[in-house]
Amino acid sequence: MSLLKRMVGLKPARSEWFCPNDAPHHGCHPGDGVELIYLGTAGFIIRNAARTVVLDPYLSRPDLRRTVSAKLVPDKALIKKVIPQADDVLIGHSHYDHVLDAPDLCIQTGARLIGSRSTMMIGRAAGVPVHQLRETAGNEDIRAGDWTLRGVPSRHGKVFGRVPFPGDIHFPPPWPPRMGDLKHGPVLNWIVNTGALTIAHVDSADFINEELQGHCCDVLCLCAIGRKYRKDYTKEIIGLLKPRWVVPCHWDTMITPLESDPDLIPTVDLPGFMDEIRDAGAEPMLAPILGRLRFPCGC
Ligand SMILES: [Zn+2]
Ligand SMILES: [Zn+2]
Repeated sequence: MSLLKRMVGLKPARSEWFCPNDAPHHGCHPGDGVELIYLGTAGFIIRNAARTVVLDPYLSRPDLRRTVSAKLVPDKALIKKVIPQADDVLIGHSHYDHVLDAPDLCIQTGARLIGSRSTMMIGRAAGVPVHQLRETAGNEDIRAGDWTLRGVPSRHGKVFGRVPFPGDIHFPPPWPPRMGDLKHGPVLNWIVNTGALTIAHVDSADFINEELQGHCCDVLCLCAIGRKYRKDYTKEIIGLLKPRWVVPCHWDTMITPLESDPDLIPTVDLPGFMDEIRDAGAEPMLAPILGRLRFPCGC
């Protein structure tokens, strides 16, 4: 298999690229800090002592053959093992690699499923109780305990030169779905404000400058795949949101089991992405899948 992978140009991420330390502490109270756990693809857990918010969870990761040819069946046991508790689950867009595992996570934990109307159709198809569904078109503050969650209207980036599976989901799709059943729907960049730290999440390599005007963040979780199709992508979004730290995401092939070493998407150039982040004035913090990063309050 490793020979086959080499023949098609697949390489693992190199361990020296990963961030060895937590973000530097600047005298904040440690209890104000926030922990991020990277889940692969564009998935994250953000948590502190009070709350756990999950973004775009995709843990099931069937292999390439099953992804393209079979129904996508969420791995309920794996979801339970990796994310035993959650309060809110935020979805940036409704492609399978962002939303497939969210309904079962919500059913298992009682968390709210928060996202676009297309995401709500998926929640209904999968049997998430209606009272746990929270639709938003963005540009509203959603209270979540002491945290505030806000979707910012965005758009889907191009992958290999085109937007994959475009369009909205108007009715509950078949469940379990095939990959083509899940169109991206309205796209949201999420801004999660814990009170002490603001984390922004861009799960596809495009955004709308005018919508992001006036927002800023301490930590930016930033999609790597397809960034070359958006001119000045890294420089512009860092200029708009002014993060101190940037956590690259969506850089692996998504078809390896969650707990094995992931392969890099050959076109992503992860070291080049981290150089772009530094050149734009922010600090890249790359985490391995299931790696943890701890951030102090945003001071
Ligand atoms: Zn997508
Ligand atoms: Zn994706």
